Amino acid sequence: MSAFTDLENTLSKDSRKWLVTGAAGFIGSSLVEHLLALGQQVVGLDNFATGHRANVDSVRAASAQPERYTFIEGDIRNLGDCQRAVRGVRYVLHQAALGSVPRSIEEPMATHAANVDGFLNMLTASRDAGVERFVYASSSSVYGDHPALPKVEQQIGRALSPYAVSKRINELYADVYALSYQQECVGLRYFNVFGPRQDPAGVYAAVIPKWLDLLFDGSDCTIFGDGETSRDFCYVANVVQVNLLAATTQVPEKGAGIVYNVGCGGNTTLNQLFERLRSAVGERVPAARSTQAIHQAERAGDVRHSQANVAALVEHLGYLPSHDVKEGLAATVAWFAANRHS
Ligand code: NAD
Repeated sequence: MSAFTDLENTLSKDSRKWLVTGAAGFIGSSLVEHLLALGQQVVGLDNFATGHRANVDSVRAASAQPERYTFIEGDIRNLGDCQRAVRGVRYVLHQAALGSVPRSIEEPMATHAANVDGFLNMLTASRDAGVERFVYASSSSVYGDHPALPKVEQQIGRALSPYAVSKRINELYADVYALSYQQECVGLRYFNVFGPRQDPAGVYAAVIPKWLDLLFDGSDCTIFGDGETSRDFCYVANVVQVNLLAATTQVPEKGAGIVYNVGCGGNTTLNQLFERLRSAVGERVPAARSTQAIHQAERAGDVRHSQANVAALVEHLGYLPSHDVKEGLAATVAWFAANRHS
């Protein structure tokens, strides 16, 4: 039996209280959905900066026990909101942040306020409330310009964006809270996560939902650069698995300085991704088959290649991805086909 199946069996018989910040967002709502399915008590916190009330409503509606879910509309930049949300909570899964490298270059102050000030508020409130484990979303962007591939946790380079800086500061604060206050923390460096409910709208949308939206409309897609940029795309169910394992599994040094890569270990180029999505959508929407990828100049702050070494995650947490990229893309295309514009 895998470590995760084992954990799911344990949790199904033992309801615990979790706080998920960023609960109206893509990854946060997936975490809430899975925890509710396991009969857990969940508090969600979000200010709808980039998340949507529909995500809160849909996971609540899908739950057999919606009364186990308390949603708080609040802001992590406000310490009082964090203190209120964390009361009586055993594990925190901190996802709330302003994502996107290009946004952080446009709006470094807003990124810092949510991702650094908000993070420190949540970490401090969690420490004061006696939270057992603080798990938080870091990012592969902290590898910056380090050339090694695949990325191993100990080797990071120079940050290439304010977003990367904000996530690196999170890791430093988590480490020092573990050392100074014995607050157990685990950082998760997500690579490119995708799946249901990821937002296709806006200039800062991630590539997969944005392209799916265009392809379902039979429209061309933009590739920044020559398309040979590669990413380790990771389906959201794998990220949910890692969060739950990270909250509940014993880790070295009580979490001081602990960060794990979260990916699938693959390297799909943007050109390959476009071909795969066009062919998958083309099976449902014939107009997608004749769409093209239009190449534009590369964007500032983007790294050329990104691929995770997940050996530590496998060794320490017993990570066993449930979906490879192909299976994840198939599930995501099916979800967008059924739920687009709903
Ligand atoms: P998302 O934008 O869908 O979710 C983030 C949520 O945080 C949103 O619902 C937003 O409203 C909320 N939020 C932002 N500022 C807030 C504030 N001040 N107070 C309360 N809530 C606030 O993004 P996501 O893809 O689900 O990302 C979740 C986390 O994972 C983020 O920390 C992000 O930086 C990190 N991450 C994501 C990816 C990815 O590929 N999706 C990759 C690396 C890291």
